Order: sequence, then C-alpha cells, then structure tokens
Amino acid sequence: MGLARTGELLEAARGAGGGLGAFNVVGLEHAEGIVAGAERLGSAVVLQVSERTVRFHGERLRPIADACLALARAAAVPVSVHLDHATTPELCEEAMALGLSSVMFDGSALDYEANVAATAAVVATGHRHGVAVEAELGEVGGKDGVHSPGARTDPGEAARYVEATGIDALAVAIGSSHAMLRKEAVLDFELLERLRCVLPVPLVLHGSSGVADGDLERAVRSGIVKVNVGTELNKAFTDACRTTIAPTEVVDPRRYLDAGRTAVAESVARVLRVIDRARRAPGPDETA
Ligand SMILES: [Zn+2]
Repeated sequence: MGLARTGELLEAARGAGGGLGAFNVVGLEHAEGIVAGAERLGSAVVLQVSERTVRFHGERLRPIADACLALARAAAVPVSVHLDHATTPELCEEAMALGLSSVMFDGSALDYEANVAATAAVVATGHRHGVAVEAELGEVGGKDGVHSPGARTDPGEAARYVEATGIDALAVAIGSSHAMLRKEAVLDFELLERLRCVLPVPLVLHGSSGVADGDLERAVRSGIVKVNVGTELNKAFTDACRTTIAPTEVVDPRRYLDAGRTAVAESVARVLRVIDRARRAPGPDETA
C-alpha cells in the first residue's frame, strides 16, 4: 500500500482483466478526495498532475507533486503519481527527478516524425529512471490530437509508433474528447478491438468523463486499461462548492472546500465502481 509505480499498477490491472482509474488533481482538496474515494473502494488509483495544473500553480510542479506523493505514501491503497499532458521534455524530466513514476508526453502538436523523435527521447530518459511513459498519436494536421471527437487512431500507424518510440502506454482516439459535461461520447468499439489486437501496450482513454457508464465498462472489457477522468470531478467539486456558498454568508473556505472534496471522493468511488464492474463482468470470449 502507499506510493506505487504506475507501470506496476497498469500491468496488475491488465493482468486482472480490469482497468485503472486515473484522476486529475487541481489542488490539495482534489488529491485528498481522490485518495479518499479510492480507499472507500479499496482500489489502486493514479493521481495525475497536468501541465495546465502546473501552470495554475505558478508554473511550479514541485509543491503540488510533493503533496500528491505525500498523500500517496500515507494512503491505505496503492497510489501512483503521474504527470499528464506534458508538452516539453524538460517538464517530464523534472517530474522524474521529483519521484513521479510515470509521465505522459503529449507530442500531438508535432508532425509524426517529430513526435516519434521527441517521444523516443523522453522514453529513453524515463526508462533510465524506471519511469513509464504514456504518449498519444495525434492526427496529422489535427489540432486537438486524440481529443477531437472525430479523431481516430490508425491501428497500423499506432503499431509503428509504439515500436519506434518504446512507450509503455498509448492514449487512443476512439471517440472521446476532453471537457465533456455530458456523457454523450460515441465510442468506436470495433476500432478499440482492432487496436487491442495490434498494440502490445496498455491503452489509455482520455476524456472518460464524457463516456456513459455502460460504455466505459465495455471499453475496459474491450482493452482500455487506464481510464483518465478530470472534468467529472471538477463539475462535482464546483457544484458542491456553489451549493454550499450560495444561500449563506459563508466566508470560511474550509466549509465549501470540504463539500467539494467530499463530492470528489464520491465521484471517484462512483467511477471506480464502474471500472470494477468491467473486471467482474464476463469477457467477450466467455459470453458465448
Ligand atoms: Zn487527456
């Protein structure tokens, strides 16, 4: 229990035919809520700090990363700490030096050859530090990479990309997108099956907040291992704070931050229950 390595959590989840919830941290209360939700279910969990959150914290990774690492060490379940959507190798290297066990290098703004070269360099550094590297393969010319709802990962290109870069996990484009407030994503399960067949690494679903529970369960059964959730927690957190503040003259931030943190814990527990159902449900080969 306590601080775990993302690579080991991914392999354990995949080996058990299940998924691994990875939740985006904004501040300390988010991180505390995420760990509390995971402890409620007895599930392993990933705390993710994105480059945007680093920017929010005055361009400093260390204070929020150290807080996450401290919470992980004290947790009653395995918790790893991950850097999400880093667009520079320097930020990835800083995360490795701070003791995070995985990073996502986002080279989706680069063209294919430049993405391969930059990602392979991050992987080489990561593997020297025992750090797992996740990456994504953006559409050539696409602006939002794997996160535009129309983007699709090409299985052949993805297989070449994994081989050429040596990455440990791949974020795939199968129909989800970031920042969806409603669960309206339409996932391409046929493509997911094909990706699972040709790719040797665990697959990652970004934008899982926009995926309906039944589809999320099916996605995990169909090969998604790491399930990234951010927006759903932010919505729960903000709704709870708003409800607490609105009718009163409350000035003590602890009042509404506590409500927000509790709402995050409940959301995390809810998502982890959905992921857990996938592991318990019969796989595609067992339904016949
Ligand atoms: Zn993402």
